Amino acid sequence: MQLIFATHNKNKAIEIQSIVPEGIQIITLDDLNCKEDIPETEKTLEGNAVLKSRFVVEKFHLNCFADDTGLEIEALNGEPGVYSARYAGEPCDSERNMQRVLDNLSEVENRNAQFRTVISLFWEGEMYLFEGVVKGRIVEEKRGEDGFGYDPIFEPENCGKTFAEMHLTEKNNLSHRSRALKKMVEFLQTQKK
Ligand code: IMP
Repeated sequence: MQLIFATHNKNKAIEIQSIVPEGIQIITLDDLNCKEDIPETEKTLEGNAVLKSRFVVEKFHLNCFADDTGLEIEALNGEPGVYSARYAGEPCDSERNMQRVLDNLSEVENRNAQFRTVISLFWEGEMYLFEGVVKGRIVEEKRGEDGFGYDPIFEPENCGKTFAEMHLTEKNNLSHRSRALKKMVEFLQTQKK
């Protein structure tokens, strides 16, 4: 059984291949020789995830899934949210994005935030959504060298360290993405004959 992942990101695909049940082969857009970038034009994570998987279904008529992730900060009414990648404008730049968050929170006591991933799965003609959330807080100054994106300023609750201070396996065990993915995998396992 082949399952298309609507991404050009090979590393994400490798990570996901190692988690899905045996017998499901993850195929990326590049594997299908599809070079197009799918524009993320919706205003919600759900909308973008569905838009990306629908693009693949319409083009290839195969089972597929797509994900979208955002950092949602309570005191900023859920910003940067769906605009996380380009919060400080384009071209996307993690350092400038983090600085914008820290500037916006400089006088703010409430540092509550969460990462949220939404996966949209088109499976045998039906669409399913899976959500993964990790709650935490935005720290006052960047800490740690690992990871990507907002990792140096996000501290998951009860951890005492930022995502960027964790080994990848530690982060992956509790991350928003892996939580959403586990739900999709559990669903796929119930579908396997
Ligand atoms: P994407 O939907 O996975 O491409 O994520 C959108 C943006 O959210 C990325 O460009 C990052 O800025 C941010 N992001 C997503 N996942 C993470 C994470 O695990 N750590 C830090 N930032 C992330």
